[in-house]
Amino acid sequence: MNYEPIVKPPPERMPVTPNLIGYEAVGDAFRWDDIRAELDGLPGGGLNIAYECIDRHLTTDRKDKVAMLWEAKDGRAETYTFAQMAAGSNKAANALRSLGVEKGDRVFVFLERVPELYFTVFGTLKLGAVIGPLFSAFGPDAVRDRLADSEAKVLLTSPDLWARVKDIRADLPRLQHVVILDRRGGGDVPEGTVAWPDVFDAQSEEFEIEATDPEDFAIMHYTSGTTGKPKGAAHVHMAVMGHYATAKYVLDLHDDDVYWCTADPGWVTGTSYGMFGPWSNGATSLVYEGGFAAGHWYSLIEKYRVTVWYTAPTAIRMLMKAGEELPRKRDLSSLRYVCSVGEPLNPEGVLWGLKAFGLPIHDNWWQTETGSILIANYPDMDIRPGSMGRPFPGVEPAIIDDDGNELPPGEEGDLAVRPGWPSMFRTYWNNQELYESRFRNGWYITGDRARRDADGYFWFVGRADDVINTAGHLVGPFEVESALLEHPAVAEAGVIGKPDPIAMEVVKAFVALKDGYEPSDKLRRELIRFGREKLGTIVAPREIEFVASLPKTRSGKIMRRLLKARELGLPEGDTSTLEED
Ligand code: ATP
Ligand code: MG
Repeated sequence: MNYEPIVKPPPERMPVTPNLIGYEAVGDAFRWDDIRAELDGLPGGGLNIAYECIDRHLTTDRKDKVAMLWEAKDGRAETYTFAQMAAGSNKAANALRSLGVEKGDRVFVFLERVPELYFTVFGTLKLGAVIGPLFSAFGPDAVRDRLADSEAKVLLTSPDLWARVKDIRADLPRLQHVVILDRRGGGDVPEGTVAWPDVFDAQSEEFEIEATDPEDFAIMHYTSGTTGKPKGAAHVHMAVMGHYATAKYVLDLHDDDVYWCTADPGWVTGTSYGMFGPWSNGATSLVYEGGFAAGHWYSLIEKYRVTVWYTAPTAIRMLMKAGEELPRKRDLSSLRYVCSVGEPLNPEGVLWGLKAFGLPIHDNWWQTETGSILIANYPDMDIRPGSMGRPFPGVEPAIIDDDGNELPPGEEGDLAVRPGWPSMFRTYWNNQELYESRFRNGWYITGDRARRDADGYFWFVGRADDVINTAGHLVGPFEVESALLEHPAVAEAGVIGKPDPIAMEVVKAFVALKDGYEPSDKLRRELIRFGREKLGTIVAPREIEFVASLPKTRSGKIMRRLLKARELGLPEGDTSTLEED
């Protein structure tokens, strides 16, 4: 598993000067106060995410620049300038106010990725209310849990999605209004709900933004539920400092970029980097309503001349599965920079970027709770495939032991961060106790295990809950999965510790094969041998089970806790975010 570093940048594919050159120099000079000064702020010292993303551009040349390129599932396209985004979000703010929404109230959106979702997010923020985006594939239980926990006052949804969950209404006494948006222009809405045009159309395009304090709550996101019941991480307006700074220095957004973040706003990546990061930087952002489809995704990059692309390992693995021929059929020469987040990016994924696009894929690390990217491979930095990269300037991550003491380079421990970065969550909604339990000796404990090397690169080992203890050795599933992925037959692998009377746990791998390969005892033996060669006998999987696919969250993360529960015949726990086949 020794990969050569990839020396950066490939000059012919990096036509602009990266925003961050000389990582060390910038790191030392970095001040959050300077970032604050690059933002505008509200008169009187307030800060509002919507103002920084949208309205502040109206006094500049960006006023009539395209903010959002939108493409529907059926191929229809719409574009919105910053001025139009401002008008749409002002109308949404007025509409919500007419429904009785006040500062601090929770407004939830349960919609596909349509422009009105974006207007409503910014309208809610302008009102000083708290926005909660829900992923459109959720079922009734997932929606009910989140609306009940947050005590949401208003829900914006569509006829189809509401039909799926409508029975939950009786359980939600705090939910005062359900607003139905029918983009197909249907007629009546169900009894007890209101039609979007009735509350939106006649509203004024002017709205005076509430004087929000940087510490006022702005947005809440329920975590992905990979390790357990999703938690509502609550973020404040000050978070926009983190979105802005990281979109500038990590995603390297420039004025001319056409940027595409494939994440849904139901997950934090879809808001922090589908909206707030790019728009606070004044970049043009592509929003595609539909889901994953390898061929169509490439055609979108070609059609919109996407320059910077932010996606996830699960998508990259699916693109890998679809083969290298597909990208060659398209003109993808506009792409200059590709990033990934959400799960560890296997070294094979980083290298595949080079094969498919001539560009390595830049992994970065963060979580719902951190609100913005904290560790990254920067555009001008050598990539070490398999590493999450190095800390964002102004952020202090560390590897600590059980007592909260920092560990030296090379040693594995808990990945922790010194609190104080702007976009850090301020609480878990309705669960301050759980929030407080996440701190040790002045560190925020992320729940991930990692190592740092002597040059300051961080290497993900596994989630604390997933680390395997076999015969006294701690094994991270990521390392084993990455090794298996190097075998030509393997499309995906999920690795768990299976209880064992002698070794405590043994490493077991669930493997999904690429098209054209069939499960067989021969292949099983071959993979076990392959694992031993790559990893040695202690770390290599002892057992391999072939599966058609791995259980994943709807945001595409492998749910190892489900593999384990199923293996042991135990209850599956919260499966509200489980993707259905
Ligand atoms: P839950 O907290 O409900 O179990 P979750 O942790 O998957 O769900 P998110 O906040 O969406 O919820 O995901 C953040 C986590 O995803 C990180 O803590 C880490 O485990 C994993 N992750 C994200 N990016 C990376 C990366 N680049 N490398 C390794 N792991 C990553
Ligand atoms: Mg988590």
